[in-house]
Amino acid sequence: MKIILLGAPGSGKGTQAENLMRDYGCPQISTGVLLRKAVAEKTEIGKKVEEIMARGDLVSDEIVLDLIQKSLEQIDDQIGFLLDGYPRNINQAKSLNLVLESIDRPLEHTVLIDVDAEILIKRLSGRRTCSSTGKTLNIYFSPKKEIDDCIASGGKLIQRDDDNIESISKRIEVYGEQTEPMIEFYRESGILQVVNGEGSIEEVYKRLLSKIN
Ligand code: ADP
Repeated sequence: MKIILLGAPGSGKGTQAENLMRDYGCPQISTGVLLRKAVAEKTEIGKKVEEIMARGDLVSDEIVLDLIQKSLEQIDDQIGFLLDGYPRNINQAKSLNLVLESIDRPLEHTVLIDVDAEILIKRLSGRRTCSSTGKTLNIYFSPKKEIDDCIASGGKLIQRDDDNIESISKRIEVYGEQTEPMIEFYRESGILQVVNGEGSIEEVYKRLLSKIN
């Protein structure tokens, strides 16, 4: 499968990407994950992007294009790929088209996971990662038992650097200014599929599967 997952910050792209990877075996390429790794490892790129990411702005198109090209090169032609967090503006979408044309791997699905802005803010501001299991939790939505289990196992609830309210507002603003016009570009070209992203992870996944199968 060759698929792009589009959606606002907090729309659940990463979560649904994990489901697709599990069931279809196609590797996820997430620019957010790759960039956070570069920051954690303090690479040259990591040092350049740390501050930009923490305040919720987009890093430069050149940096993310380079990451995407290198990741695509490493992936076997047969298994496909799943892009999450890329492209995020019209320029990136055009570059991606050129890259995919040059390696002769046309996209099969471009899916938008659609979620109301109020829900996004709660999902992002409440998001935590358990330091002992790596599991993503939410202080507003996760069952109390899951949060207690994390703490009981010696874990801490870690918040992403850009999940504070200022950066969340900025990320949603950038999404409206740069990503939504790109989504229109896909919609006009007739290839956009839209999935309602509200409800449980399983419900959203079922809707997603019904679109792509
Ligand atoms: P989210 O979509 O939840 O905000 P991501 O993990 O996808 O989170 O991205 C986190 C941050 O990484 C973004 O706010 C941005 O700074 C940077 N980033 C990720 N993907 C891109 C991209 N395609 N272009 C520019 N910046 C990106």
